[in-house]
Amino acid sequence: MQKSLGQTFSVSGIGLHLGVEATVTLKPSPANTGRYFVRVDLPGAPSIPAQIQSVGQTVLSTELSANDAQVKTVEHLLAALIGSKVDNACIEINGPEVPLLDGSAQIWLENIEKAGIVEQSTTAATEAIVVTEPIWVRKGDAFVAALPNLEGTRFSYGIDFPYQVIGNQWFSWSIEKDDFSQLIAPARTFGFADQIEQLRQNGLVKGGSLDNALVCDQDKWLNPPLRFDNEPVRHKLLDLLGDISLLGRLPKAHIIAYKASHQLHLELVREILKRIESP
Ligand SMILES: [Zn+2]
Repeated sequence: MQKSLGQTFSVSGIGLHLGVEATVTLKPSPANTGRYFVRVDLPGAPSIPAQIQSVGQTVLSTELSANDAQVKTVEHLLAALIGSKVDNACIEINGPEVPLLDGSAQIWLENIEKAGIVEQSTTAATEAIVVTEPIWVRKGDAFVAALPNLEGTRFSYGIDFPYQVIGNQWFSWSIEKDDFSQLIAPARTFGFADQIEQLRQNGLVKGGSLDNALVCDQDKWLNPPLRFDNEPVRHKLLDLLGDISLLGRLPKAHIIAYKASHQLHLELVREILKRIESP
């Protein structure tokens, strides 16, 4: 059974990179329509499917682009939807970037849970994506790999940052066996104080602040407390979940990422798709 939302809800806020306010309205959508954005502020209200074919820029966030329209920083909202097992949703947005809110997926998740999740009767079979051999992409010592895992979908993530307060962290989470709302959804975006000026000069993180992102310098967090000791790696796993959701549905695989980026997450999605289409 596919699933959609029980009712419509709206959330407003500013986007991380552009710093522009937008309102997102999530609506139930029929079976087999998938998750898709609609830019209601643009002429003709163009639709942008939340699929790998729509991926545009991937610098520090994932942007989707289709029908001459873009929507930026989609990963936390998409992670909240797939973490709640919502297959079909119409995501109306009246601006260019999804609001960052508190930097995590928690506010999205709370609203999804309040709206309720309904099962949809459908006769159309949805074929499972099964990874049958190791698939990987890498760049330097960073990689993302998908290994066969008939039990379902598991993610394991490793990070290693040259900032004492983060250092080397690993976390592993299964969508079937582990809780999403307690373990992953609350983990917030993080950044480095010494990089903020440079990023702003490049037109990025204009909407970032100490209220919506954890920020650290070499040896301390500027805005503690953390929600978890290893909040950064849990947030990376949240980003990975949102990016992998662009496959349309989660593959039966153990996906392992190390020091990866949105770009590498999405390269793996393309590689999985290629293997399925021409095995
Ligand atoms: Zn993120």
